[in-house]
Amino acid sequence: MKRFALAGNPNCGKTTLFNNLTGSTAHVGNWPGVTVEKKDGVYKKLSEPIKIIDLPGIYSLSPYTSEEVISRNYILDEKPDCVINIVDATNLERNLYLTTQLLEIDVPVVVAVNMMDVLEKNGDSLDEKVLEKKLGVPVVKISALEEDNLKELMERAFEASEKKREGVTILENKDLKHLVGDVKIAFKGKKVENPLFHAIKLVENDEIEVKMHEELLPMVEEFKQTLHDETFGNDIEAIIADERYNYISKNFSKVIVHSELADEKKEVKETKSDRIDKVLTHKVLGLLIFAVILFFVFHLTFSENLFFLGGLFKNAAPSFEGSIYEGLFWTDGGINSPGVILFNFFDMSFSAIIDAVSGAMAGALGEGHWLTGFLCDGVLSGLFAILGFLPQILVLFLFFSIMEDTGYMARVAFILDRIFRKFGLSGRAFIPMIMGFGCSVPAMINTRTLADEHEKVATIRVIPFFSCGAKLPILVAIAGGVCEVFGFSSVDLITYSMYVVGVITAIIAVLIMRHSTQRGEAAPFIMELPQYHLPQFRALMIHLWDKAKHFVKKAFTIILASTIIIWFLSNFGWDWQMCEMEDSILASIGKFIQPLFTPLGFGSQLSAFGWVFAVAAITGLIAKENVIATFSVLAAAIVAGFEGTEEGVAEAVVMITNTGITWPGAIAFIAFNMLTIPCFAACATARGELQKGTFKWTLLFWIVASFIGASFVYCFLSMFSVDTLAWAIPCTAVFIALGVLTVFYLRHYERKQDAKVA
Ligand code: GDP
Repeated sequence: MKRFALAGNPNCGKTTLFNNLTGSTAHVGNWPGVTVEKKDGVYKKLSEPIKIIDLPGIYSLSPYTSEEVISRNYILDEKPDCVINIVDATNLERNLYLTTQLLEIDVPVVVAVNMMDVLEKNGDSLDEKVLEKKLGVPVVKISALEEDNLKELMERAFEASEKKREGVTILENKDLKHLVGDVKIAFKGKKVENPLFHAIKLVENDEIEVKMHEELLPMVEEFKQTLHDETFGNDIEAIIADERYNYISKNFSKVIVHSELADEKKEVKETKSDRIDKVLTHKVLGLLIFAVILFFVFHLTFSENLFFLGGLFKNAAPSFEGSIYEGLFWTDGGINSPGVILFNFFDMSFSAIIDAVSGAMAGALGEGHWLTGFLCDGVLSGLFAILGFLPQILVLFLFFSIMEDTGYMARVAFILDRIFRKFGLSGRAFIPMIMGFGCSVPAMINTRTLADEHEKVATIRVIPFFSCGAKLPILVAIAGGVCEVFGFSSVDLITYSMYVVGVITAIIAVLIMRHSTQRGEAAPFIMELPQYHLPQFRALMIHLWDKAKHFVKKAFTIILASTIIIWFLSNFGWDWQMCEMEDSILASIGKFIQPLFTPLGFGSQLSAFGWVFAVAAITGLIAKENVIATFSVLAAAIVAGFEGTEEGVAEAVVMITNTGITWPGAIAFIAFNMLTIPCFAACATARGELQKGTFKWTLLFWIVASFIGASFVYCFLSMFSVDTLAWAIPCTAVFIALGVLTVFYLRHYERKQDAKVA
């Protein structure tokens, strides 16, 4: 099968093009040996299928980032049949910089000028013939978003792939050309492939090239002495970069024709977009709007009292009472949010399945057979407890994807930069953090965009505090359980405030780190605000599908295996005989570690079964979904004939009522799980991303943060609970005093450091 590689700058629309070319055939993995994402898929609309490989987004082919090295090595070593170079028409000159480098490789190249719809909407036009003539390769105007001209692009690429192409350079400086020519001849003599590309890179003193061809260096060095440039001295890399930019601006600055009408239109347009931005990026208003938007996102996902219409609805409710819709569309007089409706739907279906299976098995094997217990209480209830959360996770994700795709997230990064800077981080760090709400793994990988190593370490450490999708079941189930048992009303307020606790802890932790172990200046944050536009339905669906696939796969592998193990450990004693849960292996392990959690409110103070919290916290280290899956398996063992979950909280209710945990303790348990060591996958990623030796401190950091954070939550909330008031006040006071001392110590430490430097 022919292979076409997509290459282009970040944000040029590569992902959009890739998705539209490959549709559901896309496969996501990693490039070997690194954590950079690799995507490939198949284009099927030509006479033969074509494999499309999405290279990482890059600005050049220098050896400075792993993305650049991956792309370069792929083109040089794997020799795709054609490179489709995507350039953003609204940012043409900067994008062509990469093009001038790609042209130097002996590979067929087709240039796809993307975002033509934006250009045309502005009334501008682009003369692709000029580009074609000067670049010497086919140029096709497309809009990846509106799927314009994609077929033609592929046809031209197919044509190009049938012919060999020799690399050409746009360098015009005579001396340089001469030098490059000599080195190229030397390479040719050595039968090196892509001699032109390698020659230019060697002349540039490219790290990789220099290592590979040391023998040619003396010749290059000697010549360089003679080449002197007024501006750059003999920094040849800079001279060459300058040559490229000059060439581009000389030849292509007029390729885009602005009509007068366009200029007028643009003025109007700019003011409109500016006007929106004036509000959305306003210092105070922007933040408020962001907070409100976030609240509504959570409200629409978790609330059982949509838009607080419960009161209105109550009057009408009796006429619906007892109908099959009750419990699905409304709960206790409030209308359910879309997230909750979906959740209930899955939940009811799963309960019905479990009932049917256990009924059928009871009929076939007789009541109380262990196999029924294993299948229904162990496997199915654990699995369904997790799968039931998929719809809510997808709804939350849908909102985040919409914010991202409309360009709003970029505005948020921009407003937060002003605040982040005060804590010693750049706004750039916001993007991995917000990605952390989805999953820590890609978020940690994304910290590579942070230039300062200390900033990167601090960011990686706090990413897990931005509660990921897998922690959602913990939040919803326990918050729901607390509300039901203790008679509180707003589940969404508890979940929202737990997210806020995570964010505040992250801010405090960053502040402390940036003033102590991870000091440094935040790099200046320059970012283009992309144009606002409507999100593309198809792209959203592809995002969601990816997410769902990943989640379901995890449920059927690691989580299924864990629930089976938990079932065995909680039904068998050390003598390998089935026994009561209190005497099981799991119980004895749980009881052993239980005292550790006493200051957090879910340790030794609990009565029978109190150890289940300790066990759930430990199984959560494998995958956070395990916490509730563990509850589910154990609840079935505690309560004979335990019915699957109504609103997903029945497990939590069983745990709370049987262990005697207080509501502050239960909420501290959520906080602990949010702040503690993340799942295996995230730990492995952090370990890969951090420099040697930093990882063990990071683990310690997570342990300390979760114990301090959760015990603070416990003490603080206990002040509102009459029984525990007496000790909660002094404890909270001690916490606050410790906090103040830390700040003073940091000030002192910093002054000492500054004195040292001076
Ligand atoms: P990547 O970083 O190169 O993968 O870029 P993406 O595919 O994520 O695109 C960046 C942004 O540009 C997204 O918001 C896309 O929806 C948008 N985009 C991509 N192609 C087009 C296009 O042809 N026209 C318009 N108007 N927007 C586009």
